[in-house]
Amino acid sequence: MSALGDLDQRVADCRACPRLVRWREEVARTKRAAFADWTYWGRAVPGFGPSDARLLILGLAPAAHGANRTGRMFTGDRSGDVLYRALYDVGLASRPTAVSADDGLTLRGVRITSPVHCAPPENKPTPAERDSCRPWLVEELRLLRPTVRAVVVLGAFGWQAALPAFAAAGWEVPRPRPAFGHGTRVALDGPGGPGGPDGLGGLDLFGCYHVSQRNTFTGKLTPEMLRSVLREAADAAGLPTVDEGRGGGVVG
Ligand code: SF4
Repeated sequence: MSALGDLDQRVADCRACPRLVRWREEVARTKRAAFADWTYWGRAVPGFGPSDARLLILGLAPAAHGANRTGRMFTGDRSGDVLYRALYDVGLASRPTAVSADDGLTLRGVRITSPVHCAPPENKPTPAERDSCRPWLVEELRLLRPTVRAVVVLGAFGWQAALPAFAAAGWEVPRPRPAFGHGTRVALDGPGGPGGPDGLGGLDLFGCYHVSQRNTFTGKLTPEMLRSVLREAADAAGLPTVDEGRGGGVVG
């Protein structure tokens, strides 16, 4: 098993946050009526995507009846519908929908993870829970360091949670810390400076409004805004993209 595969398994077994463990398991027991015949995942949800990803997408935390049900990041809820559709449109996902962990969806050069791996009540992890989960993100970043060159952070919570993790994983985060904004782009030098003495490079961090229903239903985040950030980040990561309406899907 790869080091990242091993990490994913350890994340899935984590029970460090009592409130979140109680909540994710209670949701898995009581279910939502529409998913009554599902066996919910009900555990921590590890990252999804290849171990040599060049582009990382960072959300907030799994949704109670989305990833906490399916066991795969952003799979089975409205936020995921928007995100995977956009990834497909620019050629970074093999299909436009994400319904279950065995639906055959693959990502090209992209990995999706979150700074908190368990579904929180009201989508609100506490600062203590965020901090408890940070070592998982730091370890994931360290394992991705040889290849990852761009990161899209969805929303201000993810941004605040991510910056200390990037610093702990070896990148140089500017002081004062850059503020979150949609379209913000910040260059982080690699360990030891630009390019890094050990050949491990810097990366570009991109801010993007979260793909939550609150943002997408109100038009605060449109599909074109999302595609635009994904294209710019993919370009920074050295991943080719396609124009939507030209077939979409994985290229190359
Ligand atoms: S939120 Fe993170 S640290 Fe807390 S139980 Fe889940 S995986 Fe473990």
